[in-house]
Amino acid sequence: MEEKLWDLVIIGGGPAGSTTARFAAKNGLSVLVIDGRDSIGEPLQCGELVPSNNEMKRLCPNVPDIDELFKTPKNAISQYTKEMHIIPPSGKPLKYNFEGLMLNRVIHDQELVRLAKSNGAEFLTGIRVLDIEDNSIILKDGSVINAKIIVGAGGHNDPLRKKHWKVKSLNIPVKFILMDGVFSNAVELHFGSVAPGGYAWVFPKEGGANIGLGIQRKFAKGQSLNIFADNFFSKYKGKVSFEGAGSLPMSGTIKTFVKNNYVLVGDSAGMVLPSNGAGITIAMIGGRIAGQVISEHIKNGTPLSEYEKRWEHQMGKVMRNSQRSFKLGSILFRFPDWFINIAFNRLTKPFIWKAITCRPLLKFF
Ligand SMILES: Cc1cc2nc3c(=O)[nH]c(=O)nc-3n(C[C@H](O)[C@H](O)[C@H](O)COP(=O)(O)OP(=O)(O)OC[C@H]3O[C@@H](n4cnc5c(N)ncnc54)[C@H](O)[C@@H]3O)c2cc1C
Repeated sequence: MEEKLWDLVIIGGGPAGSTTARFAAKNGLSVLVIDGRDSIGEPLQCGELVPSNNEMKRLCPNVPDIDELFKTPKNAISQYTKEMHIIPPSGKPLKYNFEGLMLNRVIHDQELVRLAKSNGAEFLTGIRVLDIEDNSIILKDGSVINAKIIVGAGGHNDPLRKKHWKVKSLNIPVKFILMDGVFSNAVELHFGSVAPGGYAWVFPKEGGANIGLGIQRKFAKGQSLNIFADNFFSKYKGKVSFEGAGSLPMSGTIKTFVKNNYVLVGDSAGMVLPSNGAGITIAMIGGRIAGQVISEHIKNGTPLSEYEKRWEHQMGKVMRNSQRSFKLGSILFRFPDWFINIAFNRLTKPFIWKAITCRPLLKFF
């Protein structure tokens, strides 16, 4: 029997992979998503905060049809938030209006899988991809699957990226917990020696909060992430119902997302806004473009590099502003806490917000 040749095989069924699958399958391609996890989205590895669709329209003004892309169902939302507090070491917050959704991320990712399936994509779960050679994907059990186009959406450890792209990203280690209790409705970001080179967060959920922290090791003076995390978590009293960890790519997008018939999307391409850690919605923006361009490529021969062009048009400026702000922040956060306290004031408040929301700090940027 002749082996099946899929139009598109996607490694990883997270937000990037499932969204690529959704849009490619919608346009009639045969699509298979392979994920090492038995149940995609589990275990939880996330702070679970996304901006509302209105906030996304302000944050990414060149991205079209935001409401069509982000159809977060009610059961995937734990709570709505209205404020963000940026908190320096003094504990005195700078307060901003910010519409956010606190997700039930596991349900959120499962809904994205369901959406992809309802458009015709197929899923193979509970088996890891070991290798990729030419048009073949080699699985852990030795079986081989063939595809015209292969997408690496396996997150920061994606096997396609590791084998065929020789570039490195700055990956920030992160720890988080879910804690029961009553928390304020605002989402909080804490800066300073509490999380050297990174930040700590308290994101309220229904009946509790998602509390986490990420650092840049080179700023941590030899102390481990565990020590910073334990110190920060011990400030809050409540029953810990879950503990998790992960890694966030924080150096922004890599230069090329396409090599021959290989395409990267989501964390594997560095699609996280480094100045605020947003990766879920950004992976989905990349996934939609990738899915659309791959279908046009298979059907009409549109070059795959069109994906990079559309990404640049929709997200290039936002990503560059975010990278610049992250670099500036990395310089600022080398200074002692007393300096950061002075730097976070009423006069700098609008600039700090511009940095977090990926806008140019000064007109000529
Ligand atoms: C602790 C933490 C907190 C975060 N908090 C937030 C937040 O609050 N808001 C936000 O917007 N973003 C947050 N992020 C970032 C966000 O989670 C990612 O940017 C987003 O998940 C990227 O989606 P993705 O589909 O590219 O990758 P992932 O969601 O990582 O999905 C990759 C998938 O690929 C599969 N896979 C990997 N390797 C293989 C293989 N070899 N074979 C088969 N399958 C494979 C994995 O099982 C996984 O399902 C956080 C990240 C971390 C680690």
